[in-house]
Amino acid sequence: MYDRDALIAAVDLPALADELLGPHTGTARAPMWRCPEPQHAQTGRTPPVSIFTSGRGEQRWRCHGCGAGGTAIDLVMVFCRTDLRDALEFLARRVGQEPQAPGWSPRPRPRHSPLAAVGVPVGCRDQAGLDRYVEECAHRLFSPAGQHLLRWLTDERGLPPPVLEANRVGADLGPGRQDRPDGMPRASGVVLPVLVDGHAVYAQIRVPHPRPDRPRYLNPRAGLAPNPRLARVRPVEQKRQAIIITEGAIDALSAASAGFRAVAVLSAAYPDRLVAHELSRLPDPLVIAFDQDDAGRAAAGRLTALLDAHQRHPANLVLSAGDVNEALVRSSNWTKELELRVNAALGQFGASRALEVG
Ligand SMILES: [Zn+2]
Repeated sequence: MYDRDALIAAVDLPALADELLGPHTGTARAPMWRCPEPQHAQTGRTPPVSIFTSGRGEQRWRCHGCGAGGTAIDLVMVFCRTDLRDALEFLARRVGQEPQAPGWSPRPRPRHSPLAAVGVPVGCRDQAGLDRYVEECAHRLFSPAGQHLLRWLTDERGLPPPVLEANRVGADLGPGRQDRPDGMPRASGVVLPVLVDGHAVYAQIRVPHPRPDRPRYLNPRAGLAPNPRLARVRPVEQKRQAIIITEGAIDALSAASAGFRAVAVLSAAYPDRLVAHELSRLPDPLVIAFDQDDAGRAAAGRLTALLDAHQRHPANLVLSAGDVNEALVRSSNWTKELELRVNAALGQFGASRALEVG
Protein backbone atom coordinates (compact mmCIF):
# COMPACT_ATOMS: atom_id res chain seq x y z
CA MET A 1 0.00 0.00 0.00
CA TYR A 2 2.96 2.35 0.72
CA ASP A 3 6.31 2.68 -1.05
CA ARG A 4 8.47 1.18 1.71
CA ASP A 5 11.84 2.24 0.26
CA ALA A 6 10.74 5.83 -0.38
CA LEU A 7 9.27 5.97 3.12
CA ILE A 8 12.49 4.79 4.78
CA ALA A 9 14.53 7.18 2.65
CA ALA A 10 12.30 10.10 3.68
CA VAL A 11 12.41 9.45 7.43
CA ASP A 12 15.26 10.99 9.43
CA LEU A 13 15.89 8.07 11.80
CA PRO A 14 17.92 9.96 14.46
CA ALA A 15 15.17 12.60 14.66
CA LEU A 16 12.53 9.86 14.94
CA ALA A 17 14.56 8.14 17.67
CA ASP A 18 14.90 11.43 19.58
CA GLU A 19 11.16 11.82 19.36
CA LEU A 20 10.11 8.30 20.31
CA LEU A 21 12.91 7.17 22.63
CA GLY A 22 13.76 10.52 24.17
CA PRO A 23 16.74 12.78 23.46
CA HIS A 24 19.97 10.94 22.68
CA THR A 25 23.03 11.00 24.91
CA GLY A 26 26.67 10.67 23.95
CA THR A 27 28.42 12.80 21.37
CA ALA A 28 26.91 14.24 18.19
CA ARG A 29 29.06 11.83 16.18
CA ALA A 30 28.09 8.79 18.26
CA PRO A 31 24.62 9.45 19.66
CA MET A 32 23.01 6.69 21.75
CA TRP A 33 19.41 6.03 22.73
CA ARG A 34 17.63 3.81 25.19
CA CYS A 35 16.26 0.52 23.82
CA PRO A 36 12.55 0.46 22.87
CA GLU A 37 12.28 -3.27 23.59
CA PRO A 38 10.09 -3.55 26.73
CA GLN A 39 11.76 -6.80 27.84
CA HIS A 40 15.16 -5.14 27.86
CA ALA A 41 15.78 -3.81 31.41
CA GLN A 42 18.08 -0.77 31.37
CA THR A 43 19.69 1.45 33.97
CA GLY A 44 19.64 4.46 31.65
CA ARG A 45 23.32 5.28 32.31
CA THR A 46 24.73 3.90 29.06
CA PRO A 47 21.93 3.70 26.50
CA PRO A 48 22.54 0.77 24.15
CA VAL A 49 21.00 1.85 20.80
CA SER A 50 23.01 3.37 17.96
CA ILE A 51 22.14 4.23 14.37
CA PHE A 52 24.17 3.32 11.29
CA THR A 53 23.78 3.19 7.52
CA SER A 54 23.34 -0.27 6.02
CA GLY A 55 24.94 -1.65 2.88
CA ARG A 56 21.72 -0.79 1.04
CA GLY A 57 22.15 2.82 2.10
CA GLU A 58 19.28 2.64 4.60
CA GLN A 59 19.45 4.13 8.09
CA ARG A 60 19.09 1.41 10.72
CA TRP A 61 19.14 1.18 14.49
CA ARG A 62 20.56 -1.55 16.64
CA CYS A 63 20.52 -2.34 20.35
CA HIS A 64 23.93 -3.59 21.45
CA GLY A 65 22.39 -5.07 24.59
CA CYS A 66 19.62 -7.31 23.27
CA GLY A 67 20.15 -7.34 19.52
CA ALA A 68 16.85 -5.63 18.63
CA GLY A 69 17.05 -3.39 15.60
CA GLY A 70 15.98 -2.63 12.06
CA THR A 71 14.62 0.24 10.01
CA ALA A 72 12.42 3.16 11.03
CA ILE A 73 9.45 0.85 10.41
CA ASP A 74 10.77 -1.65 12.96
CA LEU A 75 11.40 1.14 15.46
CA VAL A 76 7.76 2.26 15.28
CA MET A 77 6.54 -1.35 15.48
CA VAL A 78 8.65 -2.12 18.57
CA PHE A 79 8.13 1.19 20.34
CA CYS A 80 4.42 1.49 19.65
CA ARG A 81 3.79 -2.27 19.90
CA THR A 82 1.87 -2.03 16.68
CA ASP A 83 1.74 -3.96 13.42
CA LEU A 84 3.35 -3.27 10.06
CA ARG A 85 0.29 -1.57 8.61
CA ASP A 86 -0.02 0.91 11.49
CA ALA A 87 3.70 1.60 11.45
CA LEU A 88 3.61 2.36 7.71
CA GLU A 89 0.61 4.64 8.19
CA PHE A 90 2.33 6.44 11.05
CA LEU A 91 5.48 7.09 9.03
CA ALA A 92 3.52 8.02 5.92
CA ARG A 93 1.62 10.63 7.94
CA ARG A 94 4.92 11.90 9.28
CA VAL A 95 6.52 12.44 5.89
CA GLY A 96 3.33 13.26 3.98
CA GLN A 97 3.40 10.22 1.72
CA GLU A 98 0.15 8.99 0.29
CA PRO A 99 -0.41 5.35 -0.53
CA GLN A 100 0.23 4.31 -4.12
CA ALA A 101 0.83 7.85 -5.28
CA PRO A 102 2.75 7.64 -8.57
CA GLY A 103 5.75 9.93 -8.85
CA TRP A 104 5.74 10.54 -5.11
CA SER A 105 8.43 12.68 -3.59
CA PRO A 106 8.82 13.69 0.06
CA ARG A 107 7.19 16.90 1.16
CA PRO A 108 7.05 18.49 4.59
CA ARG A 109 4.02 17.99 6.82
CA PRO A 110 1.65 20.92 6.93
CA ARG A 111 2.39 22.80 10.13
CA HIS A 112 0.44 26.08 10.02
CA SER A 113 -1.80 25.05 12.92
CA PRO A 114 -0.65 22.98 15.89
CA LEU A 115 -3.78 20.90 15.50
CA ALA A 116 -2.90 20.15 11.89
CA ALA A 117 -0.38 17.74 13.37
CA VAL A 118 -3.29 15.55 14.35
CA GLY A 119 -4.96 13.37 11.77
CA VAL A 120 -2.87 14.44 8.83
CA PRO A 121 -4.24 12.75 5.70
CA VAL A 122 -3.18 9.17 5.42
CA GLY A 123 -4.11 9.02 1.81
CA CYS A 124 -7.75 9.05 0.85
CA ARG A 125 -8.22 7.17 -2.45
CA ASP A 126 -10.83 9.58 -3.77
CA GLN A 127 -10.02 12.94 -2.19
CA ALA A 128 -12.13 14.95 -4.63
CA GLY A 129 -15.06 12.56 -4.27
CA LEU A 130 -14.98 12.64 -0.47
CA ASP A 131 -14.69 16.45 -0.42
CA ARG A 132 -17.65 16.75 -2.79
CA TYR A 133 -19.72 14.31 -0.70
CA VAL A 134 -18.98 16.16 2.57
CA GLU A 135 -19.74 19.52 0.92
CA GLU A 136 -23.08 18.32 -0.50
CA CYS A 137 -24.09 16.75 2.82
CA ALA A 138 -23.16 19.92 4.74
CA HIS A 139 -25.39 21.88 2.38
CA ARG A 140 -28.29 19.41 2.72
CA LEU A 141 -28.27 19.53 6.52
CA PHE A 142 -29.68 23.05 6.27
CA SER A 143 -32.12 22.26 3.43
CA PRO A 144 -35.75 21.23 4.08
CA ALA A 145 -34.90 17.60 3.23
CA GLY A 146 -32.26 17.50 5.96
CA GLN A 147 -34.48 19.01 8.63
CA HIS A 148 -35.08 15.81 10.59
CA LEU A 149 -31.33 15.26 10.96
CA LEU A 150 -30.69 18.91 11.86
CA ARG A 151 -33.41 18.68 14.50
CA TRP A 152 -31.79 15.57 15.99
CA LEU A 153 -28.49 17.45 16.27
CA THR A 154 -29.91 20.68 17.66
CA ASP A 155 -32.94 19.56 19.70
CA GLU A 156 -31.87 16.12 20.95
CA ARG A 157 -28.10 16.63 21.14
CA GLY A 158 -28.18 20.37 21.92
CA LEU A 159 -25.52 21.30 19.33
CA PRO A 160 -25.72 24.88 17.97
CA PRO A 161 -25.95 25.25 14.15
CA PRO A 162 -22.87 27.54 13.85
CA VAL A 163 -20.65 24.80 15.39
CA LEU A 164 -22.16 22.24 12.98
CA GLU A 165 -21.45 24.58 10.06
CA ALA A 166 -17.89 25.36 11.18
CA ASN A 167 -17.09 21.64 11.25
CA ARG A 168 -19.02 20.85 8.03
CA VAL A 169 -21.37 18.39 9.72
CA GLY A 170 -23.84 17.14 7.14
CA ALA A 171 -26.93 15.12 6.26
CA ASP A 172 -26.76 11.98 4.12
CA LEU A 173 -30.29 11.39 2.87
CA GLY A 174 -29.57 7.83 1.76
CA PRO A 175 -28.19 6.18 -1.39
CA GLY A 176 -31.38 6.90 -3.38
CA ARG A 177 -30.95 10.65 -2.95
CA GLN A 178 -27.27 11.17 -2.35
CA ASP A 179 -24.22 10.23 -4.44
CA ARG A 180 -21.23 9.00 -2.51
CA PRO A 181 -17.66 7.94 -3.20
CA ASP A 182 -17.00 4.24 -3.50
CA GLY A 183 -16.40 2.83 -0.01
CA MET A 184 -18.73 5.22 1.86
CA PRO A 185 -21.52 3.32 3.69
CA ARG A 186 -24.83 3.31 1.81
CA ALA A 187 -26.94 4.68 4.64
CA SER A 188 -28.80 7.76 5.79
CA GLY A 189 -27.67 9.74 8.81
CA VAL A 190 -25.60 12.60 10.16
CA VAL A 191 -22.25 12.95 8.38
CA LEU A 192 -19.30 13.70 10.68
CA PRO A 193 -16.24 14.53 8.58
CA VAL A 194 -12.60 14.63 9.69
CA LEU A 195 -11.06 17.76 8.21
CA VAL A 196 -7.37 18.46 7.71
CA ASP A 197 -6.33 21.75 6.15
CA GLY A 198 -9.87 22.27 4.90
CA HIS A 199 -10.11 18.86 3.22
CA ALA A 200 -12.17 15.87 4.29
CA VAL A 201 -9.86 12.91 4.92
CA TYR A 202 -12.52 10.68 6.50
CA ALA A 203 -16.23 10.77 7.31
CA GLN A 204 -18.44 8.74 9.63
CA ILE A 205 -22.19 8.40 9.40
CA ARG A 206 -24.01 8.63 12.76
CA VAL A 207 -27.39 6.92 12.54
CA PRO A 208 -29.68 8.90 14.91
CA HIS A 209 -32.01 6.11 15.97
CA PRO A 210 -30.48 2.74 14.98
CA ARG A 211 -32.19 -0.56 15.65
CA PRO A 212 -30.85 -2.06 18.89
CA ASP A 213 -28.80 -4.67 17.01
CA ARG A 214 -27.26 -2.12 14.63
CA PRO A 215 -24.23 0.16 15.14
CA ARG A 216 -24.67 3.90 15.70
CA TYR A 217 -21.52 4.78 13.77
CA LEU A 218 -20.84 3.59 10.22
CA ASN A 219 -17.30 3.93 8.91
CA PRO A 220 -15.96 4.11 5.36
CA ARG A 221 -13.99 1.16 4.03
CA ALA A 222 -10.23 1.49 4.61
CA GLY A 223 -9.81 1.34 0.82
CA LEU A 224 -11.52 4.75 0.55
CA ALA A 225 -9.97 6.36 3.61
CA PRO A 226 -8.07 4.77 6.51
CA ASN A 227 -9.31 5.68 9.99
CA PRO A 228 -7.22 8.69 11.10
CA ARG A 229 -7.98 7.74 14.77
CA LEU A 230 -8.22 11.40 15.77
CA ALA A 231 -10.60 14.07 14.56
CA ARG A 232 -10.08 17.68 15.49
CA VAL A 233 -13.13 19.81 16.02
CA ARG A 234 -13.07 23.56 16.31
CA PRO A 235 -15.30 26.09 18.03
CA VAL A 236 -16.79 29.03 16.16
CA GLU A 237 -14.82 31.30 18.45
CA GLN A 238 -12.02 29.87 20.55
CA LYS A 239 -12.40 31.09 24.12
CA ARG A 240 -9.96 28.88 25.98
CA GLN A 241 -6.51 27.44 25.46
CA ALA A 242 -7.08 23.89 26.72
CA ILE A 243 -7.86 21.09 24.28
CA ILE A 244 -10.61 18.63 25.23
CA ILE A 245 -10.05 14.98 24.25
CA THR A 246 -13.31 13.07 23.83
CA GLU A 247 -14.69 9.69 22.86
CA GLY A 248 -16.25 10.34 19.47
CA ALA A 249 -17.21 13.35 17.39
CA ILE A 250 -20.53 14.23 19.06
CA ASP A 251 -18.76 14.78 22.39
CA ALA A 252 -16.05 16.82 20.63
CA LEU A 253 -18.72 19.01 19.00
CA SER A 254 -20.25 19.42 22.47
CA ALA A 255 -16.94 20.73 23.82
CA ALA A 256 -16.63 23.05 20.81
CA SER A 257 -20.10 24.39 21.62
CA ALA A 258 -18.57 25.86 24.80
CA GLY A 259 -15.70 27.52 22.91
CA PHE A 260 -13.07 24.80 23.30
CA ARG A 261 -10.98 23.12 20.66
CA ALA A 262 -11.49 19.37 20.88
CA VAL A 263 -9.97 16.18 19.52
CA ALA A 264 -12.17 13.10 19.20
CA VAL A 265 -10.64 9.64 19.53
CA LEU A 266 -12.56 7.74 16.88
CA SER A 267 -12.68 4.17 18.09
CA ALA A 268 -13.27 2.38 21.36
CA ALA A 269 -10.19 0.22 20.69
CA TYR A 270 -8.01 3.34 20.99
CA PRO A 271 -6.26 5.15 22.62
CA ASP A 272 -3.00 3.41 21.85
CA ARG A 273 0.57 4.64 21.80
CA LEU A 274 0.27 6.20 18.35
CA VAL A 275 -2.74 8.24 19.49
CA ALA A 276 -0.87 9.32 22.62
CA HIS A 277 2.16 10.22 20.56
CA GLU A 278 0.17 12.47 18.23
CA LEU A 279 -1.69 14.11 21.11
CA SER A 280 1.59 14.73 22.96
CA ARG A 281 2.70 17.01 20.11
CA LEU A 282 -0.09 19.49 20.79
CA PRO A 283 1.30 22.48 22.68
CA ASP A 284 -1.73 23.35 24.82
CA PRO A 285 -3.05 21.81 28.07
CA LEU A 286 -4.85 18.52 27.41
CA VAL A 287 -8.05 17.63 29.24
CA ILE A 288 -9.45 14.12 28.86
CA ALA A 289 -13.25 13.98 28.91
CA PHE A 290 -14.08 10.33 28.30
CA ASP A 291 -17.33 8.62 29.30
CA GLN A 292 -17.91 8.40 33.05
CA ASP A 293 -18.32 4.60 32.99
CA ASP A 294 -15.89 1.75 33.63
CA ALA A 295 -14.77 1.50 30.00
CA GLY A 296 -14.32 5.26 29.74
CA ARG A 297 -12.38 5.45 33.00
CA ALA A 298 -10.14 2.57 31.91
CA ALA A 299 -9.46 4.25 28.55
CA ALA A 300 -8.76 7.59 30.28
CA GLY A 301 -6.36 5.89 32.68
CA ARG A 302 -4.56 4.22 29.80
CA LEU A 303 -4.26 7.45 27.82
CA THR A 304 -3.09 9.37 30.91
CA ALA A 305 -0.31 6.82 31.49
CA LEU A 306 0.71 6.92 27.82
CA LEU A 307 0.81 10.74 27.83
CA ASP A 308 2.70 10.77 31.15
CA ALA A 309 5.42 8.78 29.38
CA HIS A 310 5.69 11.71 26.94
CA GLN A 311 6.00 14.18 29.86
CA ARG A 312 2.52 15.45 29.00
CA HIS A 313 0.30 15.25 32.06
CA PRO A 314 -3.32 15.55 31.00
CA ALA A 315 -6.10 16.58 33.35
CA ASN A 316 -9.19 14.40 33.65
CA LEU A 317 -12.59 16.05 33.55
CA VAL A 318 -15.32 15.12 36.01
CA LEU A 319 -18.72 15.39 34.32
CA SER A 320 -22.20 15.84 35.76
CA ALA A 321 -23.54 13.12 33.43
CA GLY A 322 -22.44 9.97 31.59
CA ASP A 323 -20.70 11.76 28.74
CA VAL A 324 -19.89 15.25 27.47
CA ASN A 325 -22.97 15.50 25.27
CA GLU A 326 -25.31 14.32 28.02
CA ALA A 327 -23.77 16.93 30.33
CA LEU A 328 -24.41 19.60 27.69
CA VAL A 329 -28.03 18.52 27.26
CA ARG A 330 -28.65 18.71 31.01
CA SER A 331 -26.81 21.96 31.61
CA SER A 332 -28.54 25.32 31.96
CA ASN A 333 -25.33 27.22 31.12
CA TRP A 334 -23.00 24.87 29.27
CA THR A 335 -20.30 27.41 28.37
CA LYS A 336 -19.91 28.42 32.02
CA GLU A 337 -20.20 24.87 33.34
CA LEU A 338 -17.56 23.40 31.04
CA GLU A 339 -15.20 26.29 31.73
CA LEU A 340 -15.51 25.75 35.50
CA ARG A 341 -15.08 22.01 35.20
CA VAL A 342 -11.99 22.41 33.02
CA ASN A 343 -10.52 24.89 35.53
CA ALA A 344 -11.24 22.42 38.32
CA ALA A 345 -9.59 19.59 36.38
CA LEU A 346 -6.54 21.75 35.69
CA GLY A 347 -6.32 22.42 39.41
CA GLN A 348 -7.08 26.12 39.28
CA PHE A 349 -8.42 26.83 42.72
CA GLY A 350 -11.53 28.89 43.06
CA ALA A 351 -13.05 27.14 40.08
CA SER A 352 -13.68 23.94 42.03
CA ARG A 353 -15.21 25.96 44.90
CA ALA A 354 -17.43 27.84 42.49
CA LEU A 355 -18.70 24.52 41.19
CA GLU A 356 -19.47 23.24 44.68
CA VAL A 357 -21.29 26.44 45.54
CA GLY A 358 -23.00 26.83 42.18
ZN1 LIG B 1 17.70 -3.76 23.73
